[in-house]
Amino acid sequence: MLSSGVKRELTWIITSAWIVVFIAWLTNAWIVCFVLYLLSYMGRQLWSMRKFERWMSGGSYATFPPASGFWSELSYLVSKKQRALEKHADLHLYKSEQFKAASMQIPDAIVSLDQNNYIEWFNTPSESMLGIRRQDIGRKVEGIIRQPEFIEYLNITDFQEALILNTLQGKQRTFDLKIIPYFESHKLLVVRDITELYQLAQIRRDFIANASHELRTPLTVLKGYLELMQDMPGEQQILWKTPLEHMENQSNRMQSIIEDLLTLSSMEADSITSAATSVDVPEILQNISVEARQLGSDAHHIVFEISPDLRLQGYTEPLKSVFMNLVANAVRYSPEGGNITIRWYLDKEGAHYEVKDQGLGIAAEHIPRLTERFYRVDKDRSRVTGGTGLGLSIVKHVLEQHGTTLKVESVIGKGSVFKCDFPLDIVVQ
Ligand code: ADP
Repeated sequence: MLSSGVKRELTWIITSAWIVVFIAWLTNAWIVCFVLYLLSYMGRQLWSMRKFERWMSGGSYATFPPASGFWSELSYLVSKKQRALEKHADLHLYKSEQFKAASMQIPDAIVSLDQNNYIEWFNTPSESMLGIRRQDIGRKVEGIIRQPEFIEYLNITDFQEALILNTLQGKQRTFDLKIIPYFESHKLLVVRDITELYQLAQIRRDFIANASHELRTPLTVLKGYLELMQDMPGEQQILWKTPLEHMENQSNRMQSIIEDLLTLSSMEADSITSAATSVDVPEILQNISVEARQLGSDAHHIVFEISPDLRLQGYTEPLKSVFMNLVANAVRYSPEGGNITIRWYLDKEGAHYEVKDQGLGIAAEHIPRLTERFYRVDKDRSRVTGGTGLGLSIVKHVLEQHGTTLKVESVIGKGSVFKCDFPLDIVVQ
């Protein structure tokens, strides 16, 4: 199917050819007429081409070039395409303006940085929170936020974790800084003021620590009297034997909970201040192997596979409680006669502590919640076996201090594997 421009062009060629043939027939000058016809056709094409070129290069302001025939069709198609492109560009511009306007309304400070940390763009809250001004666009962000912790954070490559600062640009408030890499090594710096949230968490931590501390003394007094009463001579002792044993069990449980809560609170407080040391993990595990056999009363078959001389740069007491907690759980939640294997080994990814049991196993839906405080899969069993529901919370907290997380694999009725993968940078050999 021919386009209308080509049809018009053909009509012109045929009509003018007829006229030329008629004139040639009248004058009998066929060659001259044919040459003149060709020259006039070429002239017409050249003239249209020139007008089209001027229009394309912007020399003419007309919507369509004043061209005829095939050229008018071509110019129509070009201008149609141009209009579509302009519409597309307008839409893009509108969308980017809309995005910019929305990000200006976000209460967090957002700063876009290029691959060399030069500021490209920022939103309004960045002015009050970080003191960035319009003239800072194109300057390095380190020149504006000069805090050493921030500069150190900016130079790391893994931005999984946020940086918490208790003072920023002279403001004594708590800020959460996060860098989000995007689009070919560009970065978004997002800063949130979390003072209120942080204070609430602090109040909660203080409350738990104070309440546990306050409960400790009265409980010790009660336990003392209980022991005295259990030693009572005569008939009274037989009468009160069972209730007193019950009371003793419960007060022991309460004491364990208080001790675990205090451990958690002190860890939360200590994590920032105390310094890491070289921890002799093989020695700790050696001691645990002795304790574990006492804990399981030889009812379980416990095997330790310890890589000697494999130490960690970390915190001794917290690590001890991680290793012990996982072994105690394996014993607690395995039937008598079950095999428990504890492995401490090194590979190219880092050091690994693994506790494998053939116990009850844990259903998949419980696994993500195991490290929540007081979360127990089977409350009754945990109580009977003396669990506090805080052991794995302590484990999670300590592992976070050592740059790792707890991994759990489990099959109901078959057993579980609890694994801690310590990164190579804290391994000491
Ligand atoms: P608890 O003091 O109750 O053992 P934890 O925080 O140590 O508290 O563990 C949380 C829950 O996870 C336990 O109550 C138990 O249901 C489950 N759990 C932990 N370790 C094991 C294990 N090795 N096998 C089966 N269940 C386990």
